[in-house]
Parts: sequence; C-alpha cells; structure tokens
Amino acid sequence: MLPYRATINFINSTNIANWHTPPICYIHYYRAFILVKIELTEYKEVTKREKVTIGYKCDNCGKIHNGNSMPDDWHKFSGHHNSWGNDSCDSYEYYTACSPECYAKLLRKAVEEFEEYSDAEIDDFEIDFAKRMVSFLNAL
Ligand SMILES: [Zn+2]
Repeated sequence: MLPYRATINFINSTNIANWHTPPICYIHYYRAFILVKIELTEYKEVTKREKVTIGYKCDNCGKIHNGNSMPDDWHKFSGHHNSWGNDSCDSYEYYTACSPECYAKLLRKAVEEFEEYSDAEIDDFEIDFAKRMVSFLNAL
C-alpha cells in the first residue's frame, strides 16, 4: 500500500449545473471540458509559529496581568470617529483599564484625543456624553 492517499475528482459537463465553486473552475471547464484534480496527502507533524496572547497591560498605570484572557474586573474600550475620509477607519484607538481610577484617566485622554470630531464615539458614548462623563468624574 502506498504511503499516501490519492483523491481524484472527475468533473464533466453532466454535473456542471451542480457546481457551487468560484468562477475559476469554469475557466478550467472551457479549456478542457474535463477537470481532474489530484491531491496527494499524508499525515505529518508540523511546527507552526503563532502570535498568542500572554498578558494584558493597563494603558494608564502599566500594571500587567499574565494570562490569555483579560480579568473580569478590567475594562477594554475603544474610541473612533466617523468623519469622512480614509482616516476614519484608521482612527480606532483601544484602551485597557485595570481599575475605575485608570478608566477615568483613560476616558479623559480619549476625549482629549477625539474632541475635535463631532461624530466621535468613545466606549460607545457619543463624544458629547463622554465629555460630560469626564466632567462628572473630575468633580468627584
Ligand atoms: Zn491601571
């Protein structure tokens, strides 16, 4: 027995109506009327390098939590604007806060960053509400 498995798919004009494949297959069809695909496979051990999460860092105080998930008592939020132009999709900024105190400081920082945009949103707050939230937190 051979050390590999051969898969042969034979497709002819009688079943072309059943194709749910990208148009590239039709190019093969017009060229040859018969499409034969052969794949040789075997099982191998492979080593891959992947980027994995090993921890989280508070963007305000720099506190680090080791692990692949963020603690439930931390909060991650984003800020962005929707102004016309290519830069709106690049405007997303992400903030990670380890505590309510750090959240208040990061919210203030995000408001300062986006206050020139009337259509900005920070942590799902409209910018005007986010400004009021910062004023409220400053008064505490
Ligand atoms: Zn912090």
